[in-house]
Amino acid sequence: MHDVVSILEGYTSDLENIYLHLHRNPELSMQEGDTARFIGAHLEEYGFEVAKIGGGIVGILSNGSGPSVLYRADMDGLPVKEESGLPYASDIMRKNREGNSVPAMHACGHDFHMTAGLGVARFLSEHTNVWSGTYVALFQPGEETAEGAKAMVADGLVEYVLERTEQGRLDVALSQHVLTVPCAGHVGTAAGPVLSTAASVRIVLNGRGSHGSMPHLGVDPVVLASSIVMRLQGIVSREIAPSEFGVVTVGALHSGTAANVIPSSAELLLNVRAYSNETRAQIIAAIERIVKAECEASRAHDPVIEIYDEFPLTNNDPGVEATIREAFVAAFGEHRVEHLDPITASEDFSTIPDAFGSPYCYWGLGGFAEGDEVYPNHNPHFAPTLHPTLETGAAAATVAALAYLGK
Ligand code: ZN
Ligand code: ZN
Repeated sequence: MHDVVSILEGYTSDLENIYLHLHRNPELSMQEGDTARFIGAHLEEYGFEVAKIGGGIVGILSNGSGPSVLYRADMDGLPVKEESGLPYASDIMRKNREGNSVPAMHACGHDFHMTAGLGVARFLSEHTNVWSGTYVALFQPGEETAEGAKAMVADGLVEYVLERTEQGRLDVALSQHVLTVPCAGHVGTAAGPVLSTAASVRIVLNGRGSHGSMPHLGVDPVVLASSIVMRLQGIVSREIAPSEFGVVTVGALHSGTAANVIPSSAELLLNVRAYSNETRAQIIAAIERIVKAECEASRAHDPVIEIYDEFPLTNNDPGVEATIREAFVAAFGEHRVEHLDPITASEDFSTIPDAFGSPYCYWGLGGFAEGDEVYPNHNPHFAPTLHPTLETGAAAATVAALAYLGK
């Protein structure tokens, strides 16, 4: 397995050129047309059968009898102005869906994931003697908005792939994300939940507008909203077991226009996180109960409660995780394979294996060396070190795929 790592190290200048192109040309969620064409052209060059599905790219390389493995990379950048100061920093402007021109940046490192995805694809196409089975290279749009994986599934992803696998099933799905921990050159993995499930909740409170001097003639949604915001803080602290993880954040609260007007409505936007679907359901049910009860207590009626931006739980299969960890240790050595503590962020990756009914493993790829200035994902200064992150990402994806496909 050590030779996989050194072969990938031999791809360094190629991987760097791919990375620099992607980094300089970020596209916003669900608008990754040029990125998809760039990826598709490389996969075709490597001999893959390439299809565009749901705004993403699927490349299939069939190499005889054996299991089927899917590796997924995400393609979208963010509407963030890059301030890394790097010579290859993005200075590109993109039109967002509202039609406004905004700066764009790969501030979440998806350019590393795509580069790794092309690295493993090239390795498998050049070394067909070391593996057999079916390899599926998947590049999805719209991870940041939780739209892309769903869009690909809705556009027939499962049927398309299963028609091209030997057994009519997908044996395992893999993905990774560049993170601030572990350190550069290392990978981190764990069995069970590694990323939270998330949902956003929009609440519209219907009061009754009145003159600021005549509160008795109205139903004040500002007082009602304030009461709800405070009461929601009791869900995690008083209703969820202390051993469970949960977050309820009120990220936006809008109401009113003037000091002497009692407005007729208020809007709250909430964000919810949990490491289990049960806890998430418990939190959402508590939000609905509290909002309705507070409305009742305030003489307000019929609040609107909408759930949106739902992210599934990322829950690594223990068997797959053990196989991948063992392969990582064999390839990288024990010291470069760390335990990944659960992260409160969320991903839509698991939508894909869940649609296939396949187990999966999602691991962390270290992006910052000791002594580097570390900025979190989505920060305008987010700039993982190119080497060895590019080689390690490509090697990790290849080692993980070969853990199933290798002879
Ligand atoms: Zn992100
Ligand atoms: Zn990301």
